[in-house]
Amino acid sequence: MGAPNLRHDPSSRYAAFVVPEDRLLPAVCPQCGAAGSVPVPVPTDHPERRLHVHLCDLCAGHAARRATLRFAWFTAVVVVCMSMASAMTFIWGERGRLIQFVVLALIALLLGQVAHARSNAAVLRLKLSWARLRPDLPQQPLLLSASPWLNQALIRLEFAQVAPGDRGVARHALTTSAWARLGPFVPALLSGAWWLALEGFSRASIYVVNMGPGPVVLLVDDRHQGTVAATRFEQPNLGYRHELLAGARSVRLLSSAGEAVYSNEQRLLPGQTLLIARLLPESCVWEERLDYEHPGSPSSWSVLARSSQVVLLDQMVDAWFTPLGDGSDQPPQSLTPGAETAPGTRVAVRLLPCPPP
Ligand SMILES: [Zn+2]
Repeated sequence: MGAPNLRHDPSSRYAAFVVPEDRLLPAVCPQCGAAGSVPVPVPTDHPERRLHVHLCDLCAGHAARRATLRFAWFTAVVVVCMSMASAMTFIWGERGRLIQFVVLALIALLLGQVAHARSNAAVLRLKLSWARLRPDLPQQPLLLSASPWLNQALIRLEFAQVAPGDRGVARHALTTSAWARLGPFVPALLSGAWWLALEGFSRASIYVVNMGPGPVVLLVDDRHQGTVAATRFEQPNLGYRHELLAGARSVRLLSSAGEAVYSNEQRLLPGQTLLIARLLPESCVWEERLDYEHPGSPSSWSVLARSSQVVLLDQMVDAWFTPLGDGSDQPPQSLTPGAETAPGTRVAVRLLPCPPP
C-alpha cells in the first residue's frame, strides 16, 4: 500500500494525463494500488473511445456491490426519514409546523450525507474527458484521475501530465457530477415532499352539531378552533365543521361556563369525519341515502345518533343537513336497516325527529 500521504493531499491527488489512442493504462488497481486483473471501462462522455483500468479482485467485488450498497443505504435513509415525517404529522398534527419541518430537514440532510459518503466509498473516481487545455490547443482525450496509485504509475510510465495549474479540470470533473452534488439532498427532498403531501392530503374533519343549551367551544389539541352556536332546526349551515390533519387528536367541547361537554382522545384516519352531536331528546341525526341512478326510488334511512352521541363516519357525505330529493321524503316510522353503500348512491346527514320507540 503506497502513497498514503498523497491520498490526503488534494493538490497532488487530482491529476490529468494525455492518453494517446495507441496506449493502454497500466494494470494497477486505482482503488488500492495492488496488481489489477479485472478490466473495467473508464466512465466517459464519448462512447467511441474506450479505455480500461484494471481493478484487483477485492476492489472488483466491492465495485460490483456498489450499486446494491448505494441502493441499500439510500433506501434505508429515505425510509427512516419518511417514517419520521409520517410520525411527526400524526403525533404533532398542526402544532409547531415550522419546527417539525426544520427538524425533519436537518436530520434528513445529516443522514443523506452519511449515506452518500458510505455508498461512494467504492466509486471509481476516474473519467475520460475531452478538454481543451489552452485556447490555442485542439481538444484532447484526457484521463482525469483521483487515484494516487494510478497517478504514480502513469508518471512512472511517462504519460504526459497536464501542468499542475490545470489540475482544477480534473478536480472539477470528478467532484461535480450531478449525483455528487445532489445525492446527499435526496432523502431531505423526498421526505420533505412526503411531509408536505401528508399535510395537504391526509385530512379528516370534525363536525359539531349543537342544539344547546348555549353555545359550545371546540378545542382540538387544546387550541381554540371555533364557537358553535345552538340551533334547533335543520338548515344547511347547521353546526360547525373543522378540517384538520388526520392522526391522534385530543378533542374537547366546552360550554360557555367552561365545563367540558365532551372530552376524548380520538384517532382520526384520513377521510374520516367525527360527528359530535349534542341533541334534544326528541331529535336524531339520520343518514339519508338516495339511489340517483333510479329516479323516483325513495330514500333509505338509518339513525346515526340519538340525544348526545359521537359517531365516526368513514364514508364521504355529499350533503350536510340538506334533503337529497325534493324534500317530500320523510324518515320511516319504524327503523329499517341501512342501505348498502353502492356507486350511484348519494349520502346526506339530516337532523330530524327520532323514530317512535
Ligand atoms: Zn484494489
